[in-house]
Amino acid sequence: MTAVATHCPYCALQCATTLHPVERPGAVEVQPRDFPTNRGGLCRKGWTAPEVLTVSDRLTQPLVRNAAGDLVETTWEAALDFVADRIRSLQEAHGNDAVAVFGGGGLTNEKAYALGKFARVTLRTSNVDYNGRFCMSSAAAASNRAFGIDRGLPFPLADLGGAGAILLVGSNIAETMPPAVAHLSGAREAGGLLVVDPRRTATAGLTEEGAGVHLQATPGTDLALVLALTHVVLQENLADTAYLAERTDDPDGLFRSTAGWWPERAERVTGVPAATIRRAARVLAAAAPVHGGAGAYILTGRGAEQHSKGTDTVTACINLALALGLPGKVGSGYGCITGQGNGQGGREHGQKADQLPGYRSISDPTARSYVAGVWGVSPDDLPGPGRSAVELINSLGTADGPRALLVHGSNLLVSAPRLASVRERLAALDLLVVADVVPSETALLADVVFPVTQWAEEEGTMTSLEGRVLRRRVAVEPPGEVRSDLAVFAGLAERLRPSIPFSMDPSAVYEELRVASAGGIADYSGISWDRLDAGEALFWPCPSEDHTGTPRLFADRFGTPDGRARVVAVDHRPVADDLTAEAPLYLVTGRLLQHYQSGAQTRRVAELAEAEPEVYAEIHPRVAAQLGVVDGRPVRLRTARGSMVLPARVTSDVRPDTVFVPFHYGGEGAVNELTNDALDPISRMPEFKVCAVELTSAVSL
Ligand code: SF4
Repeated sequence: MTAVATHCPYCALQCATTLHPVERPGAVEVQPRDFPTNRGGLCRKGWTAPEVLTVSDRLTQPLVRNAAGDLVETTWEAALDFVADRIRSLQEAHGNDAVAVFGGGGLTNEKAYALGKFARVTLRTSNVDYNGRFCMSSAAAASNRAFGIDRGLPFPLADLGGAGAILLVGSNIAETMPPAVAHLSGAREAGGLLVVDPRRTATAGLTEEGAGVHLQATPGTDLALVLALTHVVLQENLADTAYLAERTDDPDGLFRSTAGWWPERAERVTGVPAATIRRAARVLAAAAPVHGGAGAYILTGRGAEQHSKGTDTVTACINLALALGLPGKVGSGYGCITGQGNGQGGREHGQKADQLPGYRSISDPTARSYVAGVWGVSPDDLPGPGRSAVELINSLGTADGPRALLVHGSNLLVSAPRLASVRERLAALDLLVVADVVPSETALLADVVFPVTQWAEEEGTMTSLEGRVLRRRVAVEPPGEVRSDLAVFAGLAERLRPSIPFSMDPSAVYEELRVASAGGIADYSGISWDRLDAGEALFWPCPSEDHTGTPRLFADRFGTPDGRARVVAVDHRPVADDLTAEAPLYLVTGRLLQHYQSGAQTRRVAELAEAEPEVYAEIHPRVAAQLGVVDGRPVRLRTARGSMVLPARVTSDVRPDTVFVPFHYGGEGAVNELTNDALDPISRMPEFKVCAVELTSAVSL
C-alpha cells in the first residue's frame, strides 16, 4: 500500500492528510497535507484519528439481540433478513410511515444520498431526518430565507485572511477547528476580531492580544446584541445605503426592526456595556468596503444557532451584514461555520425531512418530478415532508408514530436533547437498528447492529464548510465483516423492493447523485468522480464538466426570484426555559478541543481521553464561594428535565450567571439529560445552548 491523500474524518474544515501504511493490520500514520483550509495544519483530533481504526472494541461483526437480551454475533445475511422481515411486517400492519430513518452530518455524500433515496423509494416513508438538525439548521434556514441559497461559507475560507474585521457570533474555532485560526490573521493584526460568547473561550481569548473585543453577552441574548450593533450602524450613518437600495428588498425594514435597540437598552438585556457595543459596531463598519476598509465578515456558529430563536438570531446577523453591504463582495460577507465533517453535503442530498437531492424542496412539484424520474418511480409515489429530528424522536413508539428506527452515523443517546425522553422513546420501538463503527451508547440499545466502515477504509466524497467537494480515499482494509452503510441500504433494498436496486459502489452512487443534483441549488453535475480523482476540489454549483466551480456566490444577485436579499424583521425574545428563583443560573453547553461531537470516537483515543477524561461544570468563583463549591469536588445540576452530579471547575472564564458543561460525554456524564428540546419554529433546532439550572454543592455525596 502506498501513501494515500485524503482528509480528516472529523470536522467540516476537512483538513487534508496523507496516510502512510504501518506494520500493524488496519493501522496507518497520518501526516498533514497542504490545502487551502488547513495550510498544512492539523489539530490533535486529526493527528490521533488513526487510533479509532483499531480501537479494541471496534464493531467487526453484525450483532442481533437474542432472547436473553444480549447482543450476539450473526451474519450479514441473517441480520439483513431479520431486519427486512421486521420492516415488512411492521409496514403491512401500520403503513409505510411505521419505519423511520435517522442519518448523520458525518456520512459521505454518497451515504447521505443513498439514505434519503432508501427512505423515500424503498421504504416509502416520510419519516427521515438527521442530526444536522441539531447542528447548523438555524443558519441554513436563515440563509435560505434571506439569500434563497444556503452554502455555509459562500466564499473560500482563505478569503477571511485579508479582512480588517471579523465578528464571530457563538463560534469557538480555536478549539473546534484550530487550523482555521490562521485565517483570522488580518483581523487580529488590525484589532478587528470581535467575539460574541458568554464564555472566555480560547477564541475569545484571542481578542486580548490586540485591540479586539470580547462581547460576553448573557446567554440567550445574542439576537438583542446584534440588533443593537445594527442600530449603531444605522444611527451613525455607517450603513451602505446604495447597496441596501440596490441589493435588498426592504431597506426600511432594517430601521424598523432595530430602532428600539439603542445600546443602553441592549446593555440591560445582554450585560454588554453600551460603550463596548458602540465600539464593536464602529470597528466592524470601518472595515467594510463602503468605508474603504479591507473587508469585514460576520460568521455564526452553534452558540448563535442552537436556540429556539436561532433562525432569527442568524437573520439579525445577516441583516447587519446587509446593512454594511458585505454579502457578495469579494473579501467580505456572512457565513456559517458548519461543524460536522460533512455538515454541508449532509444537508444537500436528501436525508433531511423536507428535502430532495440538489438541495431541492420535497414540496416542489417540479423537483419531485425530476428526482422521481432519476429514481425510476412516479412522483406520486414519493412521500411528502416528514417530521423533523426532535419531533421524529418524540413520536417513536407512539400511537401514530414509527415502530422501527434505522440509525446511521448518529449517537442519539448523547447528542439529542432531553435524553430521558429519548431513552423512553427508543425503548418503545419494536425495532431499533444502528449502523456504527463502535458500540456507541445508541448502538448498545439496538436490536440489530451493523458494523460499518469509517474514513480511511472507504472511498467517497465530502463537502467542506465552504461547499468544496473533496475525495475521501481508502488506505486500509476494514477489519472482520465490516461493510459500508451502502451495503445496508443495498441489502435491504434487495429484500424489500428489488425492482429498484441500490449500488454498493461509491463512485456509481456519486455519479447518480450528480444526475439527481443537476439543475438544483447544490448542483454537482459538473463535478465528476474522475475530476475529483484527478485532484480537483470544486465548489458547487458546478453545472458542467468544463465549469471550474463557483468559489464565491452572490456577486451580482442572490438566489431569490428577483435576485435581491430579503430583509426579515426579527426581534429578541426570552429563552424558552428562563431563570426562576429555584433555577437562577444559565446552563450553557459546548465543545472541547479534545473531543468531537458525541465523543464516540475521540473518547476512545487514549491521548484525548487522558486530556479530558470526564465531564465537568465550569462555575464562576463568586458563585462557587456563595454556594460552598470547591474546585474539583462534585456539584449537582438540576433542570426541569433532570439532574446530574459532576465535578466543578472554578474559573472566571464563565460569567457569574452561567454554568458551562461540555456535551461530548455519555451515560451519567451526558449533559443532554438536562437540556431543553424547545424548538425553533422555523429550523426545528432544539435549544441546546441555554436553559435555567439549579446548582448545589454535592460534597457530602
Ligand atoms: Fe482539521 Fe477539524 Fe480534523 Fe482538527 S478535527 S484536524 S480541525 S478537520
